[in-house]
Amino acid sequence: MTKQEVLEKAKELNVKFVRLQFTDIFGVLKNVAITTEQLEKALDGELMFDGSSIQGFTRIEESDMYLRPDPDTFIVFPWRPKDGAVARLICDVYKPDGTPFEGDPRYILKKVIAEAAELGYRMYVGPEAEFFLFLVDEEGKPTTITHDKAGYFDLTPVDLGENARRDMVLTLEQMGFEIEASHHEVAPGQHEIDFKYSDALDVADKIMTFKFVVRTIAQRHGLHATFMPKPIFGINGSGMHMNQSLFKGDQNAFFDPNGYKQLSQEALYYIGGLLKHARALAAITNPTVNSYKRLVPGYEAPVYLAWSAANRSALCRIPAKRGASTRVELRNPDPSCNPYLAIAGALAAGLDGIKNKIQPPAETSANIYHMDAATRAAEGIQSLPANLKEALDELQNDEVLKDMLGEHVYNKFMEGKLQEWDEYRTKVTEWEIEKYLTTY
Ligand code: GLN
Ligand code: MG
Ligand code: MG
Ligand code: MG
Repeated sequence: MTKQEVLEKAKELNVKFVRLQFTDIFGVLKNVAITTEQLEKALDGELMFDGSSIQGFTRIEESDMYLRPDPDTFIVFPWRPKDGAVARLICDVYKPDGTPFEGDPRYILKKVIAEAAELGYRMYVGPEAEFFLFLVDEEGKPTTITHDKAGYFDLTPVDLGENARRDMVLTLEQMGFEIEASHHEVAPGQHEIDFKYSDALDVADKIMTFKFVVRTIAQRHGLHATFMPKPIFGINGSGMHMNQSLFKGDQNAFFDPNGYKQLSQEALYYIGGLLKHARALAAITNPTVNSYKRLVPGYEAPVYLAWSAANRSALCRIPAKRGASTRVELRNPDPSCNPYLAIAGALAAGLDGIKNKIQPPAETSANIYHMDAATRAAEGIQSLPANLKEALDELQNDEVLKDMLGEHVYNKFMEGKLQEWDEYRTKVTEWEIEKYLTTY
């Protein structure tokens, strides 16, 4: 869409408010609402905001930032009134001198996309975000209680969760999403909605919109939707598998009818790159303290660094489809990640594999969960980091990913995450009280 088309559309659809959205380094959606009277000025990138109040953005002395809306992202919120409607535009963040702000995650992703384009590649991503729907208490505060007892692909007697999920799908469709599947997940109260794969930037934008829509619709059904990776101990957590492929022109570069398992050499190198950087990449794809409580054996989440064309215990799985649908499914990302940085990180890791011809280890076809530590060691199978600190230490030593993030994002990200870790590390938890209070 052009600027003119956005203005016309806004008029035609009776839009009164437009929310200008962007995402901070930690994956939190931010927005400022303007009235349509300001829209033209906004589309010209003339709206300024104070970047110093956004976590991880800038220091007070250099805080003037400009928002440049991307006209292609104009969407009207279907759940708001038709008269005096509300729309949104996703924005790029610019500095007063007219250059892109290095702290804008969308800019970081665009940079890696451009790097891929130089090598002739275009990345496509298909995410599978999982989430829980919980009840809220009388005061409207979210709980971790669900009344639903359903499991994977179950058809429940119509409950709050199913109605809400149906409403989410319909709303997303009205907003231009093509929903490929939606189903109950393994754990009680857990759901998954999959939308059609698309190019990297569009998908990152869509993941942000998706999370926001899911939360909003849940709220309208008196429920709380959470993308926290492991809200309940002892049952499955929520992942966000990332299916990825590279295209050269209209050809899927991962497909080779004569290659090993019909995979091209590029696909194998890409996997090699993902596995090489996986431990450091985890800091970005699994960026919370809680993320690592999901990555334990027994809950369909990956733990070990391996790839496989069949079994789901591996970090990288190759789904059965070939031809144009040939893809690598990275299984450790969770929906608490910043999708711009996570996709940028995976792409940078994969491109490093291609550029430096990184051969992946042999495919692991056995179920790795059933191997003992000695067998894993003999096969050279490493584990994902055990906690956020371990992941951050890995990131600190990964020049490819540091380079991808750039100095600004890397420093702010590290600073924020180390603080988060320290806060967690020094807190006295309920578990400790239970374990030690009476024993010692
Ligand atoms: N919930 C699982 C995870 O944590 C995935 C389950 C599935 O999609 N098969 O990754
Ligand atoms: Mg799935
Ligand atoms: Mg799933
Ligand atoms: Mg999957």
